[in-house]
Amino acid sequence: MRVLLVEDDDGVGDALSDALAARGHLPTRVVRGADALTRHHDADLIILDIGLPDIDGHEVLRRLRRVTEVPVLILTAHGDERSVVRGLRQGADDYLIKPVRLNELLARMDVVVRRTGRRVPESRIVTVQDVEIDLDARRVTVGGTEIPLTTMEFDVLAVLASRVGTAVSRQQLMDEVWGDAYLAVSRALDVHLTGLRGKLGRPGLLATIRGFGYRLGG
Ligand code: CA
Repeated sequence: MRVLLVEDDDGVGDALSDALAARGHLPTRVVRGADALTRHHDADLIILDIGLPDIDGHEVLRRLRRVTEVPVLILTAHGDERSVVRGLRQGADDYLIKPVRLNELLARMDVVVRRTGRRVPESRIVTVQDVEIDLDARRVTVGGTEIPLTTMEFDVLAVLASRVGTAVSRQQLMDEVWGDAYLAVSRALDVHLTGLRGKLGRPGLLATIRGFGYRLGG
């Protein structure tokens, strides 16, 4: 399976990546929490360290759970029970205590993916007026015609579509699409929004909330 490994310790990260690859998985290792927020789309499972250099792992998990149901296994320091409990409450599917034993990791990965795979999938198609946004297939149709969007345009739209009729602040949009790492992203957001509006061709569908952010429909 495609595993996004979020771990800043090179020793642990490299060892786990190698071990996962050797067992036929496709690991991608990132170091920062912000990377987890931007790279989760392509993962079947996320292994998330709690102590990260930029954003605390708990905060990463909280933000992930606002946008994705992808299974998350948290990695935590030995004996840090409070951290485990907090992680599970925030929507982690399981946890592992460092140092990680490989066979245990592999077994738990299988269990978590099997268990979450049986969840009844919610409909992930959002319809607003004659615009249909398929969040899983990453496809958008307007009046039945498919509209080609760039990756970023789709990501921006997906955040808005996950809260149709609700105002989403610029900061929240940027956090969820880019993570915290990007500083000079504000103008880029405007560019993507302009692109989106042009392609959707439905004036008023994507409303600007002055001084705050945006709202899709409603
Ligand atoms: Ca760490």
